[in-house]
Amino acid sequence: MTIAIYPGSFDPITNGHLDIVTRAARFFDRIVIGIYEKPNKQMFFNIEERVELARIAVAGIQNVEVQPFRGLVVDFAKQIKAPVMIRGLRMSADFEKEFEMAMMNRKLSHELDMLCLMASQEYQFLSSSLLKEVARLGGDIRDLVPGHVAEALRKKVHEKM
Ligand code: ADP
Repeated sequence: MTIAIYPGSFDPITNGHLDIVTRAARFFDRIVIGIYEKPNKQMFFNIEERVELARIAVAGIQNVEVQPFRGLVVDFAKQIKAPVMIRGLRMSADFEKEFEMAMMNRKLSHELDMLCLMASQEYQFLSSSLLKEVARLGGDIRDLVPGHVAEALRKKVHEKM
């Protein structure tokens, strides 16, 4: 059984992330979306909220599940017995960051390899940070996230005002 980990902050999960995980789900028996709990880092949604939003988003994909994790990705991958890590690449900017991370992870562990899928054209410009900015300013985000995420963003923006 081949297990893959798809790690990230997912603050919150977007249609761009879902596009990657749906496509990747065709190639693996099981995919674990690992939501990184960054210590001391202020996130828009807390870890429980990010996990819940992601779980609802992937409820219809039977071989994808969501788990929070702390610490190194290589350690979490080992714990869940995943030899592969999936990442999504948008145009240009992501490449250097992902390349650097792949090199560091390779130094930390030879057991984990990285597989990058190119973002689909319609999500090339979509990032969780830009999405939050647009949501804060009251822009229309309905095409960019599942309905329950749009609703959670709307509520959170209100709370934070
Ligand atoms: P991180 O904080 O690790 O960058 P993110 O939650 O922002 O985590 O992203 C997780 C992964 O999903 C990364 O590989 C990122 O490049 C990818 N990703 C983010 N947005 C998109 C998108 N719109 N299309 C495809 N991949 C994406």
